[in-house]
Amino acid sequence: MPIDATQPYDDQNIFAKILRGEIPAKTMYEDAHALAFHDINPQAPQHILVIPKGAYVSWDDFAAKASDAEIAGFVRAVGEVARAAGLVAPGYRLLANTGMDAHQEVPHLHVHIFAGRPLGPMLA
Ligand code: 5GP
Repeated sequence: MPIDATQPYDDQNIFAKILRGEIPAKTMYEDAHALAFHDINPQAPQHILVIPKGAYVSWDDFAAKASDAEIAGFVRAVGEVARAAGLVAPGYRLLANTGMDAHQEVPHLHVHIFAGRPLGPMLA
């Protein structure tokens, strides 16, 4: 079910549990600001999720409330993940679903990295 991006942060969401190590994930990168792991239901040969360590519901929540250091650290981490996975030369797509119409399902900000095949024109 899609979530309302304006809802309060729920610390029982699945990605909060992954951050706390309460449920497993195929982690491939971690630093002070971010954790990256493989999506459980990949939509491309490479489908990685990057999440900030702070408690932010959505892109909007993060952009409005995170510190400059958190934002810079997270953006750099997304780039580092893609670079470490060897995705820069072939190319990759970033996506951050935000709220109901975008069908955001998990109420902790996540950026999807899709790669590993030609992805075609962007969907509007
Ligand atoms: P959204 O629709 O919120 O942008 O995307 C949520 C993503 O989280 C989906 O691609 C879904 O497959 C992934 N996902 C949901 N639950 C889990 C989980 O427990 N582990 C992992 N690794 N991915 C999950």
